[in-house]
Amino acid sequence: MPMIPFLEKFPELGARETRSVTATHRQDLPDGEYGFLELYCDEPGCDCRRVMIDVLRPETGWSKIWATISYGWESLDFYRKWGGADSDPIEIKGPYLDPLNPQTKYSSALLNLFRFLIQSPDYVERFQRHYQMFRESVDREHGRSITHETNRIENRRQRLRDPKRRRRHPR
Ligand SMILES: [Zn+2]
Repeated sequence: MPMIPFLEKFPELGARETRSVTATHRQDLPDGEYGFLELYCDEPGCDCRRVMIDVLRPETGWSKIWATISYGWESLDFYRKWGGADSDPIEIKGPYLDPLNPQTKYSSALLNLFRFLIQSPDYVERFQRHYQMFRESVDREHGRSITHETNRIENRRQRLRDPKRRRRHPR
């Protein structure tokens, strides 16, 4: 599924509410700042209730991904139902290091740091709020394109039914 940065849809709020951590004198991480950029799924009608985190650093121009973490805040039961019989709800819920996306040798230390951060209910509530905003925006945009398509078809039907239009096409 396509994951899009929250910052892309909500630049100001995203900049204000992106969590960052400054590491000092840690054994497992270089000193400095680590930003936890949130990405959400933009598939219309999807309800996966997960966040993907790209860990970025100002030292590497906010462009190199130091770790990719996937996390779902709902209960295991939710992901069991959502994922169906073939999926592992523990894996979907996470948090885990996404094997399909960039990782570095610091990934597991950053995952531990993230595990520590989500012990704060405020942080988890922020994901839920951002997810809600993001989903509403996706569905609004998608809804607009559906309405547009319906209008187009409706207009064509009316044109076909228009008696004047028929008269202009003599047999
Ligand atoms: Zn989704």
